[in-house]
Amino acid sequence: KASVIDGVEFENKFLPESPEDSIAKSELERLQADRKTLPIYPLRDELLQAVNDYQVLVIVGETGSGKTTQIPQYLHEAGYTKRGKIGCTQPRRVAAMSVAARVSQEMGVKLGHEVGYSIRFEDCTSEKTVIKYMTDGMLLREFLGEPDLASYSVVMVDEAHERTLSTDILFGLLKDIARYRTDLKLLISSATLDAEKFSEYFDAPIFKIPGRRYPVEIHYTKSPEADYIDAAIVTVLQIHVTQSPGDVLVFFTGQEEIEAAEEILKHRTRGLGTKISELIICPIYANLPTELQAKIFEPTPEGARKVVLATNIAETSLTIDGIKYVIDPGFCKIKSYNPRTGMESLLVTPISKASALQRAGRSGRTGPGKCFRLYTAYSYHHDMDDNTVPEIQRTNLANVVLTLKSLGIHNLVDFDFLDPPPSEALLRALELLFALSALNSLGELTKLGRRMAEFPLDPMLSKTIVASDKYKCSDEIISIAAMLSIGNSIFYRPKDKQVHADNARLNFHTGNVGDHIALLKVYSSWKETNFSTQWCYENYIQVRSMKRARDIRDQLQGLLERVEIELTSNPNDLDAIKKAITSGFFHHTAKMQKNGSYRTVKNPQTVYIHPSSGLAQELPRWVIYHELVLTTKEYMRQVTELKPEWLVEIAPHYYQMKDVEESGSKKMPRGKGRAVMD
Ligand code: ADP
Ligand code: MG
Repeated sequence: KASVIDGVEFENKFLPESPEDSIAKSELERLQADRKTLPIYPLRDELLQAVNDYQVLVIVGETGSGKTTQIPQYLHEAGYTKRGKIGCTQPRRVAAMSVAARVSQEMGVKLGHEVGYSIRFEDCTSEKTVIKYMTDGMLLREFLGEPDLASYSVVMVDEAHERTLSTDILFGLLKDIARYRTDLKLLISSATLDAEKFSEYFDAPIFKIPGRRYPVEIHYTKSPEADYIDAAIVTVLQIHVTQSPGDVLVFFTGQEEIEAAEEILKHRTRGLGTKISELIICPIYANLPTELQAKIFEPTPEGARKVVLATNIAETSLTIDGIKYVIDPGFCKIKSYNPRTGMESLLVTPISKASALQRAGRSGRTGPGKCFRLYTAYSYHHDMDDNTVPEIQRTNLANVVLTLKSLGIHNLVDFDFLDPPPSEALLRALELLFALSALNSLGELTKLGRRMAEFPLDPMLSKTIVASDKYKCSDEIISIAAMLSIGNSIFYRPKDKQVHADNARLNFHTGNVGDHIALLKVYSSWKETNFSTQWCYENYIQVRSMKRARDIRDQLQGLLERVEIELTSNPNDLDAIKKAITSGFFHHTAKMQKNGSYRTVKNPQTVYIHPSSGLAQELPRWVIYHELVLTTKEYMRQVTELKPEWLVEIAPHYYQMKDVEESGSKKMPRGKGRAVMD
């Protein structure tokens, strides 16, 4: 086999087998030696004894002590996998993938064989898999197929302190099945010390892993920073030029910020001259391609300095060795939900004191560290909350309620929540599911609801898919659903080629078809080129996102079969496609106002079409939108024009003729009934 690098042809010659083998072996030996240096190692036998003695155990240990990578291996070595798998949940998919990769290396096995991972739309496990890392959401879905988790001998809910929605729901479900599955071992592990709450809830003892912690010097800014990205960059450069060797970790709120910071940093370090040592810039965020993720774990070469630009993921989920300096701008992106308006928003918000403490602690792992907080000491003491509010109290619950209902849990008010959600949010979720006909008026799951629950998607999107059967366009709808699931990382808009990129994007919007159809066109065009990478480059489309969309689409197609929906195609009947979308998203409608703003039909509020939408200039009278995002304004993202009479045709229980008549007067639709909360 030959490969071409820069026009030069190389022939791949295989090395003789023995030296390579010995390299692999010594690598394995090194990894095994490393395992023994982790703080958890001296407690191995004690831990195994505790797991043996108690059914449920709460494990507390600082980030980096070896909880995630070692405990499942210890249990495997002790024979627990003889009677079932060990499942270990993570709040984030990057963590599940990266940790599984690490553990498979440590065990000297191929990823996906004995050690694997499972995240939404990606299953990297096999018959052989005995240690399975997965997102908490995936384990929740596994309950649907295996309500007693019979194939597991141990479940470890890791990063429990994160209190994600799925983790909180898992607590209730696991506590319940542990009662009759007395052979199931349950481990709840947390990186923060406030584990008493878990211990009380599960009536389980706490196993503490003493951390190795060095002093961390905390620096605050004298006055508040107007632009924290700029302040962070300046601080990185100051550290690089004036401070002793050691890597830097900076916390940003998301991919866009990280990419912007990376670009500015690259630009500014170019001007530093050759006297200053090399600065290696490593971004890490959930959507980063796997190949690039590995870069953050590579040891920094002698004389150079690494700067890791990370999201919250580096707070506890991933341990990066060698960090000596932490820069904490004091913000993260947090989801919040207003049950009154039904609006969900992802907002950049000040972090809690608990988060600030975790972030600072990332610097004191291998030696004394320094943390530069880009906010004032006053702000830390007076403005920041002590703890982050658990997700269950600030999110839309429709998806979780549908899952719980399909697990046969009808009485949600009595569900054993660690912290209960606001009853208004629960009621909202029930109302939505009722309006979508997933629940009947008694709050019971309908046949339609059962089919919807098969899809690991938002109920409105699941409903759209099920409804596409009627409009004979399931083929198109699953493509759209897959593309919507990717989020907004399909189009690529490099700074120096924005005009070209925008033109390429507008091509898909010819005829003002709306964003949903435009996404479909992107997918179909790519498919027509036989999934060409070149085509993606030419059209400023991210090939990686497209590949992921294709994978998701394949899985959705498989699920169609399960719910007995035929794959039908109706590519030229755009109205049929839009009607299917309306069947799922009739809640999300808005009508244009005189000044070009929009007013949502349900829970009236003023919103705008997102500038990235193909309809941003067009401003149709009635629109249906995929989501509302609050950035500088309340924006509707992924917008398509709608004929108002469809609302009455498709959701007559929700809209009446007078709601959609062009009278201009403020008329609100009324739900005819309310879902009953039993
Ligand atoms: P904890 O879960 O207690 O925070 P981990 O088990 O995740 O600790 O990590 C223990 C150690 O394993 C880390 O300090 C790091 O050295 C190493 N490690 C973990 N994940 C990786 C990875 N993906 N690549 C390289 N090293 C890793
Ligand atoms: Mg961990």
